[in-house]
Amino acid sequence: MRKWEENVKKVVPYTPGEQPQKKGIIKLNTNECPYPPSPLVEKKIKEMAYEDLRLYPEFPEKTQLAAELAAYHQVSEEEIFIGVGSDDVLSMAFLTFFQAGKPILFPDITYSFYDVWADVYGIPFQTKALAEDLTINPEDYLADNGGVIFPNPNAPTGTLLCLEDVEKIVAANQDVVVIVDEAYIDFGGISALPLLKKYENLLVVRTFSKSRAMAGARIGYAVGSAKLISYLNNVKYSVNSYTMNRPSLELGVEAVKDDAYFKEICGRIIATRTRTEERLKSLGFTFPKSYGNFIFAAHHEVKAGYIFEKLKEYDIYVRHWEKERISNYLRITIGTDEEMDALFRALREIIKQI
Ligand code: PMP
Repeated sequence: MRKWEENVKKVVPYTPGEQPQKKGIIKLNTNECPYPPSPLVEKKIKEMAYEDLRLYPEFPEKTQLAAELAAYHQVSEEEIFIGVGSDDVLSMAFLTFFQAGKPILFPDITYSFYDVWADVYGIPFQTKALAEDLTINPEDYLADNGGVIFPNPNAPTGTLLCLEDVEKIVAANQDVVVIVDEAYIDFGGISALPLLKKYENLLVVRTFSKSRAMAGARIGYAVGSAKLISYLNNVKYSVNSYTMNRPSLELGVEAVKDDAYFKEICGRIIATRTRTEERLKSLGFTFPKSYGNFIFAAHHEVKAGYIFEKLKEYDIYVRHWEKERISNYLRITIGTDEEMDALFRALREIIKQI
């Protein structure tokens, strides 16, 4: 190793799902929405003034997007933090809130960015094993710690913690910050947002990437007490002042305005999920009940790694982790009915060949 290399920060980065550029593939590997964003977003994108791009964007918390989100969730604008996707929001939240020097807690099977942020920011952490049925046990999060984070529904399992259990964790941890990552809450979960009235140590994080079909716009946000949000803004403005680009801030507003479209696409995804569950069962797959826009499924005979590779031959991409406890599972994003039909046909052939 060269001398200069000794003083380089060395981290193992997060590995996102593949983004194959090939045309015509069925992409069920990164939990994107199979439907386009709201028609209001389309209209806006066509009307946007390109000259404005020469100007820096406004600070996100002063934008119409913050006002729309505040109105939508019936909170004040001081209780909203906006970032470049929820990854940015979560990363800033790790940096801001997890400084106790004590291990933060999260599940052993969860969003695999959490340990990466903990490592990059030098935050100690401890993981808590999911139960055999892949659910989170709230009792695991009640002991002394430096903060708690979990997705609800959890990813990649899709399981949901009921509001009483979420409250149990928040109530027991009032000396630290508890972050509930609600990336997938719109697909049938019960949000922790009503708990914000009672707990100033709770931060709820949301994204436009899944249920609002805008992963490419990179919009995420957090809702929390004005005090939490002000701390978050102080850290964020000490790293980069102009994180959100102008077009995304404007397009996000249109997405929030179109609640009917948002509800319609969530409803469609939930209906396709139910249909997919039935068909996967008929092929011999088992999975925990999912509250996300994906299903985490294992086959009782055929190895997940084999199915994963075979599906690529059909131009179908799903997600697979060569990781302890979950190496026999595939995480399958819910696509359109037609995409799920193609998946079903491919799976039937792959399983028949064994
Ligand atoms: N949280 C969870 C649980 C996720 O699965 C994802 C998607 N990879 C994110 C946060 C981040 O999504 P985004 O940055 O697109 O908002």
